[in-house]
Formats: sequence, structure tokens, C-alpha cells
Amino acid sequence: MKEAVERIARLWPSSGKVLVLTGAGISVPSGIPDFRSPGGLWSRYDPMRVATAEALANSPAEAWRFILDARDVMAAARPNAAHEALAELERAGLIEGIVTQNIDGLHQRAGSLNVVEFHGTMSGWRCNGCQAPKDATRAMEVTPETAPWLCERCGAVVRPDVVFFGEPIPLDALDKSGQLASGAELALIVGTSCEVAPANVLPQLVRQQGGRLAEINLAASRLAPLCDAAVAAGAEEALPLLARLLLDQ
Ligand SMILES: [Zn+2]
Repeated sequence: MKEAVERIARLWPSSGKVLVLTGAGISVPSGIPDFRSPGGLWSRYDPMRVATAEALANSPAEAWRFILDARDVMAAARPNAAHEALAELERAGLIEGIVTQNIDGLHQRAGSLNVVEFHGTMSGWRCNGCQAPKDATRAMEVTPETAPWLCERCGAVVRPDVVFFGEPIPLDALDKSGQLASGAELALIVGTSCEVAPANVLPQLVRQQGGRLAEINLAASRLAPLCDAAVAAGAEEALPLLARLLLDQ
């Protein structure tokens, strides 16, 4: 693994114009299972069926079973060494920003500042009807007995600020991630299979503009054939090593 990490370190631009694209794999060591993996915590139902705009509108009780589980898993999770290494690299001016497909807020909790949350966040809440923002503390008080939480103003179901399956990516996230990609000299893919558009377009955009591509993934992503360097290891092992190589030289 060390040699492959060294190859990534050699690709690193001194300008620090680096976009990091992260996915579920970086948060698995923090105790958040990948939604797309079978079994485990999400086995009681299929998130791709209940975490949808239709389920929220038509079967809010079912959607809220998933929302409560997701809420509790995120609340119990802590940033791991991979999140911390990325925050350290940003502080040192070696990363421009992170685009994450995760909704767990762990990058910010580790200290990263420029984070684009492509699929929203479980730490914000709003009414699905009148769109009024809702209190995150109150969201923690909802129980299976009192769910679903209904808007005190209009009676519609309350929801986390996440992009449910079938909903569009927020325009400002598209905008900010596009800006990051257009200035990047290197895109680093971490913990994502790059199966899902439009997030997987960003590294390709960087490459089309003459930038380099690297990945840290347990299993090679769909974009691995385009990568200039690839590390087949967990992010929580490879990223701290990469940070040491870049910061101690
Ligand atoms: Zn409302």
C-alpha cells in the first residue's frame, strides 16, 4: 500500500488545487453502513424504496422508520482518521475542497471547512410542505411512537435536509462542486464506487481539463481505469499515511 500512496503524493500539486470526492466508504469505519450494501442495519427495509420523495408523501410512517434509524446511526458516529487527515490537509492549504455524497456531517465535525454536501445533510430539518426550517434538537426527540413528525404550521411531514432517491441535487451544490472541479489540478476519489451520477462526473471533468486522477478505494471504482494512481486500501489507513507524506516533506 505504501508505494501506491507514495505515487499519489507525487501527483499532488503544490498549488493545493485538489478536489476530494468522498462516498460511503470513508464513513464505514465510523460505524455508518453503506446504504447500498445488503444486510446489516438497513436490512429491515430497502432505503432505496422508503427513502424516496413518494414514500415521504404517501407513506410518511414508513419513511420515518428509515429516518429514525438514519438519525440514530449518524448521531452515534464519530469522525475517523480519514476525515481527520483530510481536515489536516485542508488546513495546510493542500486541499481546495471536499465534495461528499455522505449525509453524516463527519467531514465538518473533523474540522473540514469547504465541504459541498451533494446529497444534503441529516443535521438540517424542514417541512416537506411549507418548507419551514425545523429545529434539529426537536428532531432528536421524535420516537417511534411519536413519528412521523408533522409540521405544526401546515400538517405536512417534516424531513431531514437530505436528497432522497429520485430528488434532484440542490443547485448550489452542483454550482459549488462544478467550480471546485473546474479549478482542480487533481481529483482524489475516496470510498466511492463512482456509480452514481452526477457526482461521478466531477473527476472526469477534472481529467478532461488536463488534471490528474487518483483513488483510495477498497474495491476499484468505475473510474479506476482513468486513474494515474490507485490505492487498494481503507481510507482510514491510506489517508493518514498520505497526509504524513505530504506534510512531513
Ligand atoms: Zn409546514
